[in-house]
Amino acid sequence: MTVRVLLLGGTAEARSLAERLMADGVDVTSSLAGRVARPRMPVGPVLIGGFGGIDGLRSALVDYDAVVDATHPFAATISANAVAACSAAQTPLVRLERPGWSDRSRSSWHWVDTHEQAAGEAARLGLRPFLTVGRQQLERFIPALRELKVLARVVDEPSVQLPANWQVLSSRGPYALPDEVALLREHRSDVLVTKDSGGEHTWPKMQAADQLGVPVVIVRRPRPAGDIPVVSSVEEALSWVRTLT
Ligand code: NAP
Repeated sequence: MTVRVLLLGGTAEARSLAERLMADGVDVTSSLAGRVARPRMPVGPVLIGGFGGIDGLRSALVDYDAVVDATHPFAATISANAVAACSAAQTPLVRLERPGWSDRSRSSWHWVDTHEQAAGEAARLGLRPFLTVGRQQLERFIPALRELKVLARVVDEPSVQLPANWQVLSSRGPYALPDEVALLREHRSDVLVTKDSGGEHTWPKMQAADQLGVPVVIVRRPRPAGDIPVVSSVEEALSWVRTLT
């Protein structure tokens, strides 16, 4: 029997898992939120644009035998929806989440729970913050950082009006360490703000900050959505799917 897997994606790990599952003969459909104008596409069939909440996702599950939630660690709503919908439909669910950076923490890192707290910490620590928190979160930094020379790196242009003295840099990782060092130097960034995204793709900015003695404000991950199995690598997720056959 061919296993039909719904793979909630939007991450490099999800794209890699889609490739591995297809090679294994699994009938995998990836799903993307449709937030990014030109998303990196996984192999195989792809649904774009969401399901319409828990009920919509639950209805969609009739076409699948299992779900892998490989969304970004900060995509808390879709992960919670997956837990609720899979529980209601009795569909097996696994969470694939790359390890965070807490075990690499430095004394120059300032951990906070929310983006608002991150904004306050950044204002306390520097005059030229470098924000790498994603387009959707920028609005939450405006009240505290309105007057500062902010550099904000995003994939797509922000939809909100940003203060005139903020500079937006549109680009997409992964980034190399020498480029990150050059960027921090060029903009004289004196505090880096990030989420605990984890993984290696965006790690060089943390190394660059460390190298230049720039403090880092880091937002903790949201709490896990529910009591479900969690794996931290594509290989482990693949093994989990194999147990279904
Ligand atoms: P979110 O707040 O958790 O989800 C908001 C809504 O977007 C969900 O209720 C769902 O809509 C839809 N959605 C999200 N991910 C989806 C997916 N993979 N497939 C289908 N629908 C999805 O999500 P977010 O933080 O805006 O992130 C959106 C996507 O970008 C995620 O897939 C995530 O993997 C990726 N991403 C997020 C971040 C981040 O920092 N948050 C960073 C990199 C990549 P419905 O209720 O209509 O189903």
